[in-house]
Amino acid sequence: MMILRRSCKQVSALLVAREDRSLSTVEQVALRFHLAACSACPVFERQILTMRNAMGRWRNYSDTPDDRP
Ligand SMILES: [Zn+2]
Repeated sequence: MMILRRSCKQVSALLVAREDRSLSTVEQVALRFHLAACSACPVFERQILTMRNAMGRWRNYSDTPDDRP
């Protein structure tokens, strides 16, 4: 399973890249493998997901005419 081994640095790069493009199957599996074994990267993943949700909410908010000043 050496081919699926990723460093924390590589995994954080994948987590950021995932926001812009869809990952390949190997990347997705490697990511899941690492997240299952690492304690730091799942925290980073949660931060990215929180940020994405916040951005989505902000975008919806600006699209609603009633919310404009
Ligand atoms: Zn890690």
